[in-house]
Amino acid sequence: MYTMQAVLGDITKMNVDAIVNAANRSLLGGGGVDGAIHRAAGPRLLKECRRLRGCNTGDAKTTKGYDLPAKYVIHTVGPIWQGGSANEEVLLKQCYLSCLAQAVEKDVRSIAFPAISCGVYRFPVEIAVRIAVSTVEAFMRRNDGLIALKEVYFVCFDEAMYQKYSERVNDK
Ligand code: ADP
Repeated sequence: MYTMQAVLGDITKMNVDAIVNAANRSLLGGGGVDGAIHRAAGPRLLKECRRLRGCNTGDAKTTKGYDLPAKYVIHTVGPIWQGGSANEEVLLKQCYLSCLAQAVEKDVRSIAFPAISCGVYRFPVEIAVRIAVSTVEAFMRRNDGLIALKEVYFVCFDEAMYQKYSERVNDK
């Protein structure tokens, strides 16, 4: 059995084993959720990120969480929306799958995702939410009972995003 839940709040405050960062390809920090995570984790996070030498769009790499409540940060790089014909939907799905693979590898029990690509990368929210929920749901169903991961949170930074996720996530 597993649970999937939409929550309203700040991902840096989540008491979970791993939080996901919507990073850029340099992994050297940016604005939005990335900036918030680096501020809350402290300077040791950037130091470890420098050693990773970046990350391709759709991939994910894991660091420690340092000063965060979370033990790990899984850094993924979402696609920049370019109108929809640049493989954006496939790449966004790949982000979620890459993060889940990292979570399984680290044996995490709980994970929190932000709305990857929905900020400065301008992915249309309706499509992004559908991809996020359907990809994670299918993965959890397929692996039910086979992995340590049991709790998934979609952390929404504003009410409008929370409404969108709530429409699709049914707590089980
Ligand atoms: P991207 O570059 O992938 O679009 P952003 O950080 O610009 O990433 O935005 C991704 C989503 O994260 C947006 O919906 C934004 O509102 C949200 N966000 C920003 N700060 C936080 C935070 N501290 N916790 C959770 N979500 C956040």
